[in-house]
Amino acid sequence: MDIRNCKRCGNIYHYNGTGVCNNCTEQEQKDFSVVRDYLFEHPNSPAAEINMATGIELKVISRFLKEGRLKMEGEGLLSCEKCGETIKAGRFCEKCLQEIQSELQKTIKPLPKVQGIGANTSPWSQAKVHTYDHILKKKD
Ligand SMILES: [Zn+2]
Ligand SMILES: [Zn+2]
Repeated sequence: MDIRNCKRCGNIYHYNGTGVCNNCTEQEQKDFSVVRDYLFEHPNSPAAEINMATGIELKVISRFLKEGRLKMEGEGLLSCEKCGETIKAGRFCEKCLQEIQSELQKTIKPLPKVQGIGANTSPWSQAKVHTYDHILKKKD
């Protein structure tokens, strides 16, 4: 016996192979055919547009997408190469992008090679760095 929470109304139901309870199945099917029909006439529409045009809630549309009942081409169904999160563009989601960037910053050498002007002519690298102790000791 498989008891689950209906993804539509939240009520507990006996799992019937779909994500929604028997009470919601009909409405779910209706919503799905509305979205499917809309996409048939307007292929590759963003979910927000489908939502505006059909009145079907975004969470319902995203559920169809997650369940693989709908498939959007191009924008909207790219997934992050790192964690698989759905992204709008590029190769990584924002979270992973930040991780990658901070990862890169760690591995990048602290003194990047400067072309033309040698790194040792840049003002800050000319500055003599001493600890206070060192200077005090020298004075002695
Ligand atoms: Zn339900
Ligand atoms: Zn990611």
